Amino acid sequence: MEPIIREIDVKSVLTKSNLPGSDYSVNPYVGCTHACRYCYASFMKRFTGHSEPWGAFLDVKHWPEIRRPERYAGKELFIGSVTDPYLPQEETFGRTRALLEQLKGGGVRLSIATKSDLVLRDLDLIKNLMLRLSL
Ligand code: SF4
Repeated sequence: MEPIIREIDVKSVLTKSNLPGSDYSVNPYVGCTHACRYCYASFMKRFTGHSEPWGAFLDVKHWPEIRRPERYAGKELFIGSVTDPYLPQEETFGRTRALLEQLKGGGVRLSIATKSDLVLRDLDLIKNLMLRLSL
């Protein structure tokens, strides 16, 4: 079954994080269409008003462009704490790539959690950022 996809506007894509080794968590999408049975992130449904099963919906976030990314220099950003930033829909919407473009040159430290080799598409951007990759 095709997921229900909405595009939503958010004030910011960066959220202060208490996760170990992470100053901010960054999730370009709400939901995750991989729908892993063991998913630890399905609790997100409670906070986003979705009644659909986990994996059956996806909100595509649009945020104001991150200006002056150097404000985050040396900060640890964890991309994909409650979604996979390289879902198949990323090929269409490109929100993770947009995020990396906006962070370019800012000196942030990145962790990316993904199970998709679509991440390879963005190596041109990633190689210029400080990165830890979790697969
Ligand atoms: S890829 Fe990660 S966030 Fe997505 S459903 Fe699987 S465990 Fe959950």
